[in-house]
Amino acid sequence: FNVPLAENEPVLSYAPGTPEREALQAQLKAYKQTEVDIPMYIGGQEVRTGNKVPIHPPHDIKHCLGYYHQGDETHVHHAIEAALTAKEKWASLSWEHRAAIFLKAADLVSGPYRQKLNAATMLGQSKNAFQAEIDAACEFADFLRFNVQYMTDIYADQPESAPGMWNRVEYRPLEGFVFALTPFNFTSIAGNLPTAPALMGNTVVWKPSKTAIYSAQVLMELFNEAGVPAGVINLVYASGPVAAKVIFDHPEFAGIHFTGSTAVFQSMWKTIGGNIEKYKSYPRIVGETGGKDFIIAHQSCDAKAVATGIVRGGFEFQGQKCSAASRVYLPASRWEEIKGHIATQMSEIKMGDPEDFSNFVNAVIDESSFDKLAGAIDHAKASQEADVIFGGNYDKSKGYFIEPTIIQTSNPQYITMKEELFGPVVTLYVYEDAKFEETMDILDKTSMYALTGAIFSQDRYAAELATKRLVNCAGNFYINDKPTGAVVGQQPFGGARGSGTNDKAGSAINLMRWVSPRTIKETF
Ligand code: GLU
Repeated sequence: FNVPLAENEPVLSYAPGTPEREALQAQLKAYKQTEVDIPMYIGGQEVRTGNKVPIHPPHDIKHCLGYYHQGDETHVHHAIEAALTAKEKWASLSWEHRAAIFLKAADLVSGPYRQKLNAATMLGQSKNAFQAEIDAACEFADFLRFNVQYMTDIYADQPESAPGMWNRVEYRPLEGFVFALTPFNFTSIAGNLPTAPALMGNTVVWKPSKTAIYSAQVLMELFNEAGVPAGVINLVYASGPVAAKVIFDHPEFAGIHFTGSTAVFQSMWKTIGGNIEKYKSYPRIVGETGGKDFIIAHQSCDAKAVATGIVRGGFEFQGQKCSAASRVYLPASRWEEIKGHIATQMSEIKMGDPEDFSNFVNAVIDESSFDKLAGAIDHAKASQEADVIFGGNYDKSKGYFIEPTIIQTSNPQYITMKEELFGPVVTLYVYEDAKFEETMDILDKTSMYALTGAIFSQDRYAAELATKRLVNCAGNFYINDKPTGAVVGQQPFGGARGSGTNDKAGSAINLMRWVSPRTIKETF
């Protein structure tokens, strides 16, 4: 199998005066000056319902970026029909032609679409330029290129044969259609969830988060330009419950590729279970859900590195990564020193509009997220068990701004040490140095989620102890680094417990979920 060897897309700097910075600024300006009218795409056709919903940047809620056309049950039915109609031809296209489409898509991401994807992610999801670049440009290009390589590895994996006998395995797509339900927080994930099953020969109904339709539209334009044939990826904007009802009732429902909340995933799993007799095959259920990701430091830690881990891991993209550090356990003997480094780093953080590239923190995604976070901050301010030691302000007059906030608690079971908030609020607990092992036990017992986690330790024995003791607490475990920023092809990403099915995004494990292999034995 001869495909170009996948390499990680280089991250551009966006330093003042660089061509990429100028191109991105020009794209932002162009998008702000035009009101877009965003259709659904079903069976290769643009579909406009006239039921238009406005789109506002989360950091500038009075500005209107344009409108999308909201669909209903009928459109979800049409999308399924279009996917089923396109299926046979797409599944029988040879893999090289499918691969070529997605390799071209990757080149469009690195080239002409780079600043469109970045600008749309900055305006629609309030992400800063550097966070947009590692997501919408680099990670998305990486998903496309590495998946093509993993696909060829899967196809190449063949059983032994013997004289008089030839064994072979065909990696066929699933029978039916796949449903991709994508989140707001990563444009790369919104692109990966429909394209990974499509690469393996499936056709897809794609419903993006209603808070990320602005960038979903750019992804769809890119798929069209890359040559994804009509009906292979069908983009619908129906409400979650409406789409779920039609899709999970359908006998040809073959699988779901999901990133989003634990509650939604569990409720969909129950619906699918309740309908199980209706389906031709057992549907593949692949999901990456919540996280309550941790940092634990040992007394031997490098204090500055811990502070950097907390500030970057907790507050990049306003803490709205499934992997974001949100609960921290620090040794008493090092606390004052670590606190000093946190104070220095927090004082350098600027918050505001992502169009000003010096703003590290921007707005959270929407009003309900804002209200939840403000409520958690107020709870800590009023609690006997907690204090707000950094930040704590919020304001939604211009956009949904929550100041990066650190809560210190005397109770390692305090509510925000356990429950996911999905925003720039970190809770920390200071433990007595001698209770390192006991603290790890508490950490484990309060891990309903198990996505990412980090140990900071210069003592190799302590690092090893944590790696072993916390074995079930994180699908991605970091030693002396923040728990965010997994790179495709380097750290396959995903977790267990309440965090998902751990079918590592951007890996052969994930692609295997989208095939239904047929084994053929031929006797001579
Ligand atoms: N892959 C991302 C990271 O390592 C997180 C993805 C997510 O938030 O779902 O930070």
